[in-house]
Amino acid sequence: MAQKLTQKAAKKIAKELPIPADVSREQAEQAVRVLLKWAGEDPQREGLRDTPARVVSAYREWFAGYSVDPAAYLKRTFEEVAGYDEMIVLRDIEFESYCEHHMAPIIGRCHVGYVPTNKVVGISKLARVLNGYSKRFQVQEKLTAEIAGCINDVLKPRGVGVVIDAVHQCMTTRGVHKRGVSMITSKMLGSFREDARTRAEFLRFIGIRGAG
Ligand SMILES: [Zn+2]
Repeated sequence: MAQKLTQKAAKKIAKELPIPADVSREQAEQAVRVLLKWAGEDPQREGLRDTPARVVSAYREWFAGYSVDPAAYLKRTFEEVAGYDEMIVLRDIEFESYCEHHMAPIIGRCHVGYVPTNKVVGISKLARVLNGYSKRFQVQEKLTAEIAGCINDVLKPRGVGVVIDAVHQCMTTRGVHKRGVSMITSKMLGSFREDARTRAEFLRFIGIRGAG
């Protein structure tokens, strides 16, 4: 039941997203029909008749990140943390993104850590920042840097680290066709970059053995 509600809510949000001024829904559906033909299909056959409409709706969910400002999620902070100034880590946040070179899914996990100065943020907000940037066409290196940069700019922590481990379907389902290969990227800022012990602590928390 909860699952159903969530999907319904996601669809509702997708419907409410602003539609770009210079492209109509009909034009977008027509573009899907062209790609179906390009693949060798007959877009008029029964099973495919409603597909363009479904794909266009799905795009509103997959690319919902274009209509949010991830930094806004971090504006509400908590300052009553009893002087807590140790590392906070959110690990294994699952996400889906889309490779901007092939428009193919990137499926992976993201780990985020930061050492706060005087304010912390609700933990779900870090996952929302990830969603805001991942629900767009991306390259993994840029996605990693954008999340770290956003947290660094808004929360102004002592340091922040972001590690992403993801599988690129443009590599596993075509091209070199290598299954089971994942790509790891990391962005370390502030104390995570300057202090090897902080960095090692973060990597230990997320289960990656770091040097130093
Ligand atoms: Zn690609």
